[in-house]
Amino acid sequence: MPLVWLDCSAIPKSGRAHAAIGSSVSVLAAVKGFEFLDAGVRHRFDTLRREADRQDFLAARVLAKFVMSKVTGLPPAIVSIEQFCVDCNRAGHGKPFFPSHPELSVSWSHQNGIVMAAVSTFDIGVDVETLSSIPVEPDFAENVLSDTELTILNKLPAASFDGTNLKQLYVARQWVRKEAIVKLGDCSLDNLSMLDLGQLEFPDFYFDTFHRISSGCDYEMIDISIANRACLGALVWRTGTHDISLTTTKENAIHENQHPNGRRSNCRSV
Ligand SMILES: [Zn+2]
Repeated sequence: MPLVWLDCSAIPKSGRAHAAIGSSVSVLAAVKGFEFLDAGVRHRFDTLRREADRQDFLAARVLAKFVMSKVTGLPPAIVSIEQFCVDCNRAGHGKPFFPSHPELSVSWSHQNGIVMAAVSTFDIGVDVETLSSIPVEPDFAENVLSDTELTILNKLPAASFDGTNLKQLYVARQWVRKEAIVKLGDCSLDNLSMLDLGQLEFPDFYFDTFHRISSGCDYEMIDISIANRACLGALVWRTGTHDISLTTTKENAIHENQHPNGRRSNCRSV
């Protein structure tokens, strides 16, 4: 899957945002990837055994640097990324940030060879999932969906005209949207069913599309479907939040315990 830049002009903000999605192979084809690997995560990279996992781990960070370059104009090769986990108060995992531009929000996601990243001057979260990775057991849907969403799920026909399992697709779509909101730091994986996105549009849309949603809930997002829904993604931001200005100085150096995006993460080693 080639690298695709999302049309972020649909985001109704004065700030800057860029996002891209593609296969890890396509991202790494353009670079000598190891030079893009920050020292702080080298030990985690070295513990990955599967080549596919190593590619995804590296491609996510490489892509984030290319997206950051689009926002700031800096060459990707000189962009460094650090991570800090406010749950265990340690660096090397947790929410990523750019030490040179701590005011920027960065989010990435990778799964099964697909990677997505976004950088913006306001808080943003992304998630990408392959449809085949979403469990089909009823327990999973009940843990993810709100009561309203379960009602919507139960009213859906089993299959659409093209044979797509709409119930599976609905669970997957809501899961991707909620995971992106988790990346924003606004909820945790433990309470996804408390987050009601039942007002967001569904049924789903078709091939290789990006679809901006504005709804009555607290979030707006761009839904992404790639390759006949085999890959789903979401890019989410808070409704009505104010943009921040982009600075180009390094005066806001990060000190330990003063993470710029200090909301709780869920200590997920992403
Ligand atoms: Zn942690």
